[in-house]
Amino acid sequence: MKMYHVLFAVLFLSPLVYCAPHEIKISAELENQVIDWRRHFHQYPELSNREFNTSKYILSQLAHLELEVQSGVAHTGIVALLKGAKPGPTVAIRADMDALPVTEQVDLPFASKQTTTFNGQEVGVMHACGHDNHMAVLLGVAHYLKSKQANLAGNVMFIFQPAEEGAPEGEEGGAALMLKEGIFKEKPDAVFGLHVTNRLHAGQIGYRKGPLMASADSFEITLTGRQTHGSRPWDGVDPIVAAAQVVMATQTIASRQIDVTKAPSVISYGAINGGIRSNIIPDEVKMIGTIRSFDQDMRADIKERLSFTAQTVAKAQGAHAHVKINHGYPVTINNPELTEKMLPTIKRAAGEKNVIEIPLVTGAEDFSYYALETPGVFFFLGITPKNTPLDESASNHSPRFYVDESALKIGVETLSALALDYLQSN
Ligand SMILES: [Zn+2]
Ligand SMILES: [Zn+2]
Repeated sequence: MKMYHVLFAVLFLSPLVYCAPHEIKISAELENQVIDWRRHFHQYPELSNREFNTSKYILSQLAHLELEVQSGVAHTGIVALLKGAKPGPTVAIRADMDALPVTEQVDLPFASKQTTTFNGQEVGVMHACGHDNHMAVLLGVAHYLKSKQANLAGNVMFIFQPAEEGAPEGEEGGAALMLKEGIFKEKPDAVFGLHVTNRLHAGQIGYRKGPLMASADSFEITLTGRQTHGSRPWDGVDPIVAAAQVVMATQTIASRQIDVTKAPSVISYGAINGGIRSNIIPDEVKMIGTIRSFDQDMRADIKERLSFTAQTVAKAQGAHAHVKINHGYPVTINNPELTEKMLPTIKRAAGEKNVIEIPLVTGAEDFSYYALETPGVFFFLGITPKNTPLDESASNHSPRFYVDESALKIGVETLSALALDYLQSN
């Protein structure tokens, strides 16, 4: 009897409480508007923590939506809240705002001609990572969801975030600073975001459950020995041989010391500098490098092991190693339950065959900070034209990075669907 009742409830009552998932198709008018926004951002890019005009422009385009707007967050950031007509949870959606010191080589009527000074050099400025698209898509989502406000059960927080590429030397910025300034004081229940990529074709979406992008920490090792004649090494302490041993020994952290079945990791050296002449053993060698990992505990462990290994290997040679670790972005982790739950929404919005599970990405993202605070899903939106082979497309950060704008519509529809479905299901 009991079983029968359950069945009855499932078969007959559930349609009464279950609302059909949102079918989202934005109008041609909104799509054109999104493309116009993107072209404006593209033509007038600004570097990290210098997104002054970008910020003003976003504010002007949000003005008539009557959102609760906070500006000047983390220097130039904006947080805008859309309050639904009915109570419910809050979802956050994030777009980053900054461009790169790259001189554009794409022949477009709206190509960037902007220049500025960066690290004492005159440089071109370009949205070579595609953050212009992220901002335009988020403006599109804000406009689309505003039109649904009367039916919205909950709130949507739009985060326009400066300095994803990293704040200038000596400055704070990005997601970490926005959080430090309290944008999650009232924590949203979920956070979504996307990044455009040349590694997928326009129309495609790349997703992954659990760790998606690596943590990125950099390090500086200074090895101090004692300078002497190259013909008489026993009179001094050779920091070059010590450096060679440190390089090799630290490679065994990933290959011999850490559980390779748990997650991969990478230690790479980017520069080794020391010495001046063939027959002088120098006093000092400086080395810099980067650490990537896909697990927050492993990340902490690797950093400790790197310091320990460098110090003890140097000591065995009579040299001294000073290790400085610069803590960078955490691992970007897509909450497994939330990813599972929202995957049907992504597939419905972008088309089942266009949604692809992608391998781990060893690049890093400061979206990771939000996703450590509240369940997050971050995914990739393809922008390479369908007739361009992926291995011939220019990568993000290239002066030839090119975006097929037909992808923008899919970005707006997918993020809008995620917000609406999430709010409806809670
Ligand atoms: Zn980038
Ligand atoms: Zn980027």
